[in-house]
Amino acid sequence: MGQTLTEKILDDHLVEGELVPGEEIGIEIDQVLTQDTTGTMVWLQFEALELDEVQTELAAQYCDHQTYQFDFKNTDDHRFLRSAAGTYGAHFSRPGNGICHNVHKENFAAPGKTLLGSDSHTPTPGGLGQLAIGAGGLDISVAMGGGAYYVEMPEVVNIRLEGELPEWATAKDVILEMLRRLSVKGGVGKVFEYTGPGAETLTVPERTTITNMGTELGATSSIFGTDEKTRDYLARQGREDEYVELAPDEDAEYADEITIDLSDLEPLIAKPSMPDNVVPVREVAGESVEQVIVGSCTNGGYEDILPAAKMVKGREINKKTEMIVAPGSKQASEILARQGWTAEMMAAGVNFSEATCGACIGIGHVPASDSVSLRTFNRNFEGRSGIEDDNVYLCSPEVAAAAAIKGEIIDPRDLADELGDLEAPGIELPDAYDGSKADLITPEEAVDDELVKGPNIGNAPIGEPLGADIAGEVLLKMEDNITTDHIIPATSDILKYRSNIEKLSEFTLSRVDETFAQRAMDSGTGVLVAGENYGQGSSREHAAMCPQYLGIEAVLAQSFARIHKANLFNFGILPLAIDEETYAKFEQGDDVEVVTDVAEAVEAGETEFTVRVNDDWEATATLDASERERRILKAGGKLRLTKEQYEQE
Ligand code: SF4
Repeated sequence: MGQTLTEKILDDHLVEGELVPGEEIGIEIDQVLTQDTTGTMVWLQFEALELDEVQTELAAQYCDHQTYQFDFKNTDDHRFLRSAAGTYGAHFSRPGNGICHNVHKENFAAPGKTLLGSDSHTPTPGGLGQLAIGAGGLDISVAMGGGAYYVEMPEVVNIRLEGELPEWATAKDVILEMLRRLSVKGGVGKVFEYTGPGAETLTVPERTTITNMGTELGATSSIFGTDEKTRDYLARQGREDEYVELAPDEDAEYADEITIDLSDLEPLIAKPSMPDNVVPVREVAGESVEQVIVGSCTNGGYEDILPAAKMVKGREINKKTEMIVAPGSKQASEILARQGWTAEMMAAGVNFSEATCGACIGIGHVPASDSVSLRTFNRNFEGRSGIEDDNVYLCSPEVAAAAAIKGEIIDPRDLADELGDLEAPGIELPDAYDGSKADLITPEEAVDDELVKGPNIGNAPIGEPLGADIAGEVLLKMEDNITTDHIIPATSDILKYRSNIEKLSEFTLSRVDETFAQRAMDSGTGVLVAGENYGQGSSREHAAMCPQYLGIEAVLAQSFARIHKANLFNFGILPLAIDEETYAKFEQGDDVEVVTDVAEAVEAGETEFTVRVNDDWEATATLDASERERRILKAGGKLRLTKEQYEQE
């Protein structure tokens, strides 16, 4: 039987297990990436493992999320990251150089290679045929030390694209259509492999918009095969020699197949406050818009900003609307500037930002209260913009620019009819991506050879081995779809403590209940209860590390998001699945006791745990864990286990 492209790449990198969906496999990692909010812990854990040097073919440290250096803490973090990259042998991308996924795509993404990144949108270079997976920081540290990465073998689903995008429909509409059809849970345990004649019509930047936002479907990864469009993109980046032809076998068998006819697509928009709340733009037309932002790792490339620039050229941004362009990389900014587009946009009233994540996580450009913001980003979770009652819509750059011109949501086709002289901009690549590489420091150019830690930089916490008892209060009962942003918010006032777990823990789940952290500290132990899809969103391991620091021993949830579940294992917290009925019965403040010797049961491979509540009723909770994950739990987390393994070698 033939193989899918995903299977071929996994097979080439397989070090443990078999390619059977649902089974755990270990794979060799060629490249790793990390960013500034997760990176400090990656390197602190790498230091705790007492490793000397990066072992993967390539490692890259980006400074992108929190580039505004409000006070010394953030600047200290960036200095520490530069010193870690220099000391251990990673590339270092300076603040303002761009978002990790954009800069990685431009400089390092390579067909057929594996990439592991401590950021949930790591699958972005799947658009170039790279198998890229997001993971927690500790998994990155271990992979950088030469260890395998373990993941459940995903089901591979064929997304067959037919036809060609009509005018004004874009790659963003392809992935919004996927979200409309499948929801934010539709990709869990899956890799989406894009094939068919429609895929061949898309350029690499369009493909990476789609693979980037596969994360919003909950997918392990998304990937396209390679072709002349891939070769052409690499050639324009000056890296044609890295081209490799990749395709699934003709008789490859997929777990499922979904067909999208590109020619049927129209401009779509995700309404507040979930990326799958997708409707045609015309359905929400007329809504007044106060802010428009074009940028992010989804639509922050030259090819994304250029259509918006063409649309606003010679016009004026509506007086009641602010339009911001936040390029995904300095390369994009530089080319736009050299070609004169930056001046055209400025003349139209566009406000320029440095190349950063920034507004995507509520750092800068926070919308006004009770206002509508249209963004070309990938997420619109409530409060992520920096204000709790936000109204963030997700759309293509074309829809964003149309709203900026009109001052309200409008389908760009209707705006074109109204204006009479507005042409569909289409997609265009520059002749060469000749942006400066000055802000990317190679390991050979490193300026530091030892770690430099400021006063806000602590140590990586090491957990305690699992004991026999888990007993304590339900310290918090939460609903469905609790995101890692709920658990540890990524706003600047909180994120500045990312290298100081003791301080950061004080903000744990503060967006759900401001008193939670204090209650957990007073109690010293306890459990959490949640609904479906607990921990969706980012790879932020702080969302498991801080609860562990506060003494949380188990999370009882109806289901868990993939990366967060792995992070719970990594930090020695038991992820126990409960059914809907049990969830409904739980109340905050209930006394919970796991009625067995937990450490023994975990080691023995038990899957069912009896939970006794208030000495009154009992329920069954399920532990779905591989042998390796059980060893991690038993040891008190992956850091302690890996250290012990190194000591034995
Ligand atoms: Fe940055 Fe937003 Fe992309 Fe995350 S999703 S990497 S915060 S731009």
